[in-house]
Amino acid sequence: MARTLLDKVWDAHTVRTLPSGQTQLLIGLHLIHEVTTPQAFQMLKELKLKVRMPARTFGTLDHIIPTADQARPFADPQAEEMAQHMYRNMKEFGLPLFDMASGKQGIVHVIGPELGLSQPGMTIACGDSHTSTHGAVGAIAFGIGTTQVRDVLATQCLAMAKPKLRRVRVEGTLANGVANGVYAKDVILAIINQLGVKGGVGYAYEYAGPVIERMTMEERLTICNMSIEGGARCGYVNPDATTIEYLRGRPYAPQGEAFDRAAAWWKSMATERGAEFDDIARLDGAAIEPVVTWGINPGMSIGVSQRIPSPDAQPEPERPTFREALAHMGFEAGQPIKGAKIDVAFVGSCTNGRLSDLRAAAEVAKKGKVAEGVRALIVPGSQQVAQAAEAEGLHEIFLAAGFQWRKAGCSMCLGMNDDKLQGREMSASSSNRNFIGRQGSPTGRTLLMSPAMVAAAAITGVVTDVREILR
Ligand code: SF4
Repeated sequence: MARTLLDKVWDAHTVRTLPSGQTQLLIGLHLIHEVTTPQAFQMLKELKLKVRMPARTFGTLDHIIPTADQARPFADPQAEEMAQHMYRNMKEFGLPLFDMASGKQGIVHVIGPELGLSQPGMTIACGDSHTSTHGAVGAIAFGIGTTQVRDVLATQCLAMAKPKLRRVRVEGTLANGVANGVYAKDVILAIINQLGVKGGVGYAYEYAGPVIERMTMEERLTICNMSIEGGARCGYVNPDATTIEYLRGRPYAPQGEAFDRAAAWWKSMATERGAEFDDIARLDGAAIEPVVTWGINPGMSIGVSQRIPSPDAQPEPERPTFREALAHMGFEAGQPIKGAKIDVAFVGSCTNGRLSDLRAAAEVAKKGKVAEGVRALIVPGSQQVAQAAEAEGLHEIFLAAGFQWRKAGCSMCLGMNDDKLQGREMSASSSNRNFIGRQGSPTGRTLLMSPAMVAAAAITGVVTDVREILR
């Protein structure tokens, strides 16, 4: 019988079936960071346990580190304390840490693929919900909580129920081509809008169809990153020639003949023709325009040319959330999203903090200057992204246009470092969550969009159709 990648990866990593019916699943790669590990390491110490497979465990610093001045000790004593815990624990347990001195530090979901740690056919776990990102290389990758981080550290295994599988096909071609205003971010926001923020609960998503197959690896990383925002704990793209070329030569990928052997095995893990799915969803790529969220979850989005929907037009159970969203955002039903005033522009995060994202934003930044009264931040997802961008002179384009050029970290994706919204500021953000309070202010407001759309909003001061600037 034809099998899916999910079937193959699951079977290859099954240690045994537990009495509960769950699978004891071997975890091929465990990525860790400073926020969800201190208690996990503490529990390990209390139980007098070692890390079971240190060679499969890698750490970085991302959530709490400042992006303006990273000299130690950090100005924020809480951030400094968390960093110290991380340094101490990684040393005590003999684990590698990609810190600022390594030249490889960055957001955990940016550095995993970038270093070639994340590979097809793997199971990957990390104490962060956007671990789904790594599925872009053809892995089954999911976020876990602190107790599960402890379990993986101690046993390299997790007790998991196998999810159902939905194939999400994006058909046709994007209306203007990926380089002309419609990007991977628009595609994933459109998918979440169509399937709902809870539509993926209990499912893994297999992204397929001509639009996905034509995407670069960085675009696929953006797609898989937001699987969790659609309720799916993991999402993946089948490994193909794009995957193999992306991984070739990366420091932790196999080298030489071992790479060729690995590549043959990676390709063999892809879903076979004729495999069955629990569900299949389809989107028309040509119908997707630049997308902007207007509400308080990533499913509350519209095309940039559209008007904010009315709660009265929604099914009864959804109306209270729509009303709450309008009240929080200060929008009226029927109002166009285009023209909404912004205070802050943020390009970065594990969704859109890669080199291609910065290139797309820079193309727009060349066309103007940051509008008066707008605070605009460009935050590379990793030190390597920053170096590559600087080698191309992207930082000079941003600085000349009035953007701030920051150091690698999670930054304004969430309020765990110095980069926060103030009061009711409205943010145009390339990140992945627009929940109330997400960007550090309980009354702050977030509009999710592509990096190019963020740059367009930065230079006009309002939500703008980037196609009008690129034209
Ligand atoms: S960039 Fe945002 S979503 Fe990604 S790991 Fe950091 S805090 Fe989490």
